[in-house]
Amino acid sequence: ATFTELGLITPLLARLAELEYQQPTPIQAQAIPSVLAGCDLIAGANTGSGKTATFALPMLQQIRADKPVSGKGSKGNFVAGLILVPTRELAKQVADSIKSYAVHFNGDIKTVAVFGGVSVNTQMLALRGGTDILVATPGRLLDLISSNAIKLDKVKTLVLDEADRMLSLGFTEELTSLLALTPKQKQTLLFSATFPEQVQTLTQELLYNPVEIQL
Ligand code: AMP
Repeated sequence: ATFTELGLITPLLARLAELEYQQPTPIQAQAIPSVLAGCDLIAGANTGSGKTATFALPMLQQIRADKPVSGKGSKGNFVAGLILVPTRELAKQVADSIKSYAVHFNGDIKTVAVFGGVSVNTQMLALRGGTDILVATPGRLLDLISSNAIKLDKVKTLVLDEADRMLSLGFTEELTSLLALTPKQKQTLLFSATFPEQVQTLTQELLYNPVEIQL
């Protein structure tokens, strides 16, 4: 398959050509059409599989398409696309990838990364007026919610990246609290390298009729 056949729009296709992505990786080819169609997804995927683009490209495309309706910078500290990750390194890396994929969106899409270990003030400022896409580690996100810096009740797409690592690092309680703050009706995408019982339980509670991809 080609990226065009997967249903991606021109500003993204142009960027992928610039990045010299010749063709979709297997997970991208299998998952992107379903994600664009709004399905929930559970994917067994390691780093290096191209999983970031698998959720980032459809998310950018959908949030961009929704923008004229929701309006730019809609009032309040809302977020449309939320990506939960286990570590600050991954948060930065994912946010950088998203910003790179979105360069031909002319600044329409705001992406912010928040994570622990640094001052919370800069992150609070970055979140003022809300953000389209937020990449976050669970603990810091909960802190920011407590300070009213961001709200999750307008989340349309939720991504759990490296779900097994998030749970093994002890974020189970934080995750439960965060998930309870998101709307019931949303699209959820879960990526995990392994599927221990904890991840399976989370999957059953969180996903609705998911497309399953095991590479
Ligand atoms: P990930 O598995 O998301 O961490 O991606 C691993 C690396 O592969 C990143 O450096 C991506 O930029 C790159 N990548 C992702 N998709 C493609 C593709 N279709 N063609 C070439 N490189 C890709």
